[in-house]
Amino acid sequence: ATPTALMVGTGRGAQLGILLKGPEVLESTRRVDTVALDKTGTVTTGEMAVTDVVAADGVDVDDLLARAAAVESGSEHPIGRAIVAHSALSGADVSLPFSGDGVTLPFLERADERRPERSRRVERFTNLAGAGVAGYIDGIRVSVTRPSDALGELDARLQSVVDEAAARGATPVVVCYLDAVAGVIVVADTVKPTSAAAIAELKRMGLRPVLLTGDNAGAARHVAAQVGIDDVIADVRPEGKVDAIAALQADGRVVAMVGDGVNDAAALASADLGLAMGTGTDVAIEAGDLTLVSGDLWAVVDAIALSRKTLATIK
Ligand code: ADP
Ligand code: MG
Repeated sequence: ATPTALMVGTGRGAQLGILLKGPEVLESTRRVDTVALDKTGTVTTGEMAVTDVVAADGVDVDDLLARAAAVESGSEHPIGRAIVAHSALSGADVSLPFSGDGVTLPFLERADERRPERSRRVERFTNLAGAGVAGYIDGIRVSVTRPSDALGELDARLQSVVDEAAARGATPVVVCYLDAVAGVIVVADTVKPTSAAAIAELKRMGLRPVLLTGDNAGAARHVAAQVGIDDVIADVRPEGKVDAIAALQADGRVVAMVGDGVNDAAALASADLGLAMGTGTDVAIEAGDLTLVSGDLWAVVDAIALSRKTLATIK
């Protein structure tokens, strides 16, 4: 009877938009008591938009945006997409990111001397897992990262832009040219309309939700409060998400992880159950045990309810 019930459960799952890697996934789903949720793209829409671009003294704001966008064009992250879209809207020329005008910082002149022929291309792009991106434009390393990973010191004016953004639940990123801060770009996102109700239902089912995010604690708490989550683990790198899950497991919890990003893949693989948003990246979908086609948190409720029901008919 067991295989038959699991087959039926698998078919029912497909109707609900829940794709299982294998029928046995339903067994691990039933034991889950804790649900760790990634923030960006999972609890929130992940459709971020730029709200502020603030340049450091001596840096041209259009140059800042153009360089940041050029480097971000190599990123799939919602932050990167928002910055690229904003620069296109503002008319910044991403394909020719370096104008030379308005840039008076001595370290830029030094870099130019070393490399007089400007490539006007991004070279050696790197994705700094869960922290940001970097690449070289005209021989100058441009990085766009979370404030805690910035290579330079923020002055008081830029620090207050960062603090105010975090306080209102937005996400500030810091642009550095070499090891000096060139400016701050603030992006903001909105909670999915269904997240709060789905999380309330998970709690009603006896599950404990935990918000697990690489974003800053201010933005994380702001989102957590909007959707009724009390437990927040913020400012973690992808390995930190794995560690946080291991810590919950060491406490005797059986942990499901819900995520969408490249930065969630290791956590999805290490959780007792990995639920990937169908709207997310292929890497996350590969790493998960099941895929939620709709990318809506109600599908998490459906998946757990389905496994409880399927296994109740067996026992
Ligand atoms: P979440 O866990 O909420 O999905 P991530 O782990 O994807 O967040 O990102 C964590 C943080 O790393 C972001 O809040 C941002 O500060 C920084 N970051 C990630 N990707 C990028 C990027 N492409 N550009 C700039 N910053 C980024
Ligand atoms: Mg995410």
